[in-house]
Amino acid sequence: MTTSTLALLGGKAVRHPDKNWPAWPQYDQREENALLEVLHRDSWLFGPKVQEFEAAYAAFQGADHCISCNSGTAAAEIILQAMGIGAGDEVLVPPYTFIATASAVLRVGATPIFVDLDDSWCMDPDLAEKAITPRTRAIMPVHFGGRICDMDKMNELGSRHGIPVIEDACHSWGGRWKSQGTGTIGACGFFSFQASKNITAGEGGGIVTNDEELATKVRSLTNCGRGKPGSPWYYHLNVGTNARLSEFQAAILVCQLERAEEHILRRAENASILNQGLAEIEGLHLQRKSNRITRRAWHLYCLRLDESAFGCTRERFVEAAVAEGLPITAGYPMPIYKQPVFQNLTCYDYSTVSCPFTEDLCAKSGMWLPHQILLGTEEDMHDIVSIIRKIKENASSL
Ligand SMILES: *Cc1c(COP(=O)(O)O)cnc(C)c1O
Repeated sequence: MTTSTLALLGGKAVRHPDKNWPAWPQYDQREENALLEVLHRDSWLFGPKVQEFEAAYAAFQGADHCISCNSGTAAAEIILQAMGIGAGDEVLVPPYTFIATASAVLRVGATPIFVDLDDSWCMDPDLAEKAITPRTRAIMPVHFGGRICDMDKMNELGSRHGIPVIEDACHSWGGRWKSQGTGTIGACGFFSFQASKNITAGEGGGIVTNDEELATKVRSLTNCGRGKPGSPWYYHLNVGTNARLSEFQAAILVCQLERAEEHILRRAENASILNQGLAEIEGLHLQRKSNRITRRAWHLYCLRLDESAFGCTRERFVEAAVAEGLPITAGYPMPIYKQPVFQNLTCYDYSTVSCPFTEDLCAKSGMWLPHQILLGTEEDMHDIVSIIRKIKENASSL
């Protein structure tokens, strides 16, 4: 069989350089009109847009309460503070996530304890169980890439030890576990609307929960520790901060949310084309599926390369894919506990931590495609499969 030469080695690329992938963020006249509407009003703060977005987002996740804020990072810190977690407490987090999941724990004075992933790329519930000590005050798994972690096991573990499960749902807008919205399966959950995220206003965050008491506390903490809406302005109950979402951001988010259902469907259809096209390729593994995920957001399309079974290194795979026109990346370069900020801490010796699955993902096997790729056409998806098949066929030349 003759195979065409890889673009990296001088052959013709599968994708013509003029053939673009979908851009991100996406907006249209709706966002422009909504921004002007706020601009021309006299209420740039505490206006109707934040309330409108919170009500719409609560409904979208099936939550009793949504409290908006200015980032996913602030959301995580505020939830931990609201739960009274601080010095001397431990919180279980995965080591393969954005830094905020773990740094939020440090910011409230508590200690993040890293629990490795299983082949779902989410926190392994059995390892979480082993990591629990009398000091553990919360479990904070991440629904990585939109793949919801095993919330049945996490909740069972949490309730057996009397500790809450906080869902880092920053990749899981609209996700459903057995028809239940992410963020409402555990005690609460938080979301990010930062520029790279599937629903975005450039920056932004949100917390959802069905726990009214927690919602009240979180609301106060995002709003300078104030009392309930309507209470005196210069009257402060809690040590809060100003982490409020602005009317301008909320105006954009209302529009983005209107597009979300359609985008979720398109990404899911395209992901299933990729799943089918890539399933049979030796040496390439997808995130383990679960039929309890009744709707999956796709923030990242994740691939794990087994170098020896596939026939080339991840580094060469990525170089070859990029040369063929596919913007795949190698993901996080190191587990969070290896970041300088953690290695330099004196409160806990992170130099002894070892999470083999995560270390393998970072060092040699993990790869992602960003979500906007999954907004492409069916032809785009077939191009991706062709590119990866071409690399497989030529792996020995890399
Ligand atoms: C983006 C992200 C955050 C933080 O959100 P920001 O809005 O950027 O502060 C937290 N956790 C995960 C998993 C994320 O991807």
